[in-house]
Amino acid sequence: MTSRYQEIHAGVTRIDVEYVRPGFAAAWLVREQDQAVFVETGPLPAVPILLEALTRQGLSPEAVQAILVTHVHLDHAGGAGELLRHLPNARLVVHPRGVEHLTDPSRLIEGAKVVYGTERFLATLGGATPVDPARITTAKDGELFFLQDRPLILLDTPGHSLNHLCIFDEKSRGLFTGDAFGLSYREFDGGIRPLIIPATTPTQFDITQYRATLQRLAALQPEWLLMTHFGPLPFQPELTDDLDRQLQHYQQLAEKTNEKNLFHALTTLTSAHLNTLQIPNDSLNLLEMDLNLNAQGLAIWQNRQQRKATSSCN
Ligand SMILES: [Zn+2]
Repeated sequence: MTSRYQEIHAGVTRIDVEYVRPGFAAAWLVREQDQAVFVETGPLPAVPILLEALTRQGLSPEAVQAILVTHVHLDHAGGAGELLRHLPNARLVVHPRGVEHLTDPSRLIEGAKVVYGTERFLATLGGATPVDPARITTAKDGELFFLQDRPLILLDTPGHSLNHLCIFDEKSRGLFTGDAFGLSYREFDGGIRPLIIPATTPTQFDITQYRATLQRLAALQPEWLLMTHFGPLPFQPELTDDLDRQLQHYQQLAEKTNEKNLFHALTTLTSAHLNTLQIPNDSLNLLEMDLNLNAQGLAIWQNRQQRKATSSCN
């Protein structure tokens, strides 16, 4: 069991936003002297947990300069509109392609209800309030955001979605990966190395871009992967290879497997990967929701590929 707040190092605190289960989704507080930023907000119901993280640090809401979100999916940015209402000096830093979804979250909400089912949506993600456009700053690839004199490097990292940013904090050598560097839960630790699986969630997932992004992130040689689901994880190059190999298998499976059998195929693949890593299989059910989302996102990607192929033949 993880604790709700964990100080990593160099002023970085991981906040367990208690979405789905403890140890599933994180937001982060980065502090430099008397100022701070949040990276990710978690879903809407997590806002009180984030505000409590500030109080524990002896920081006022006025101390927060920005909320940086890796992408607009509601487990990452669902709390943005509500959190901003509590932070008078903060702006929201987001990928340019994410702006319209946060100022009018109605499409995100409808999409999430389709992906998760309405009941689960209401019980876990809860909704989203619109962000005031005047408080949004868009991020360009390679741009620096300064927290005092501490540079945070903003990176355009498409693949999981087309509005995805990663944020590299040179001071901690921590890389906030969002969902661009897969998913890795601590319940699976104890094998040859940690389990890491791709995050191929609907609806914009693109395998080619995801693989290119992985290589770009690995080349930064971070010390820590500050993953939303669920870091920190010490970086090692083998993790990149594990993800890349699985993505190649995902592609092969998507090409030859009927859509309704894809979840089963991904589960079998993951189970074999656990065996290779000498990790017991008995917690595989913890991955059920992710593998279900992965199957949906992969099928949507595959259908898009087929449509492209068909239209280029005509
Ligand atoms: Zn996510």
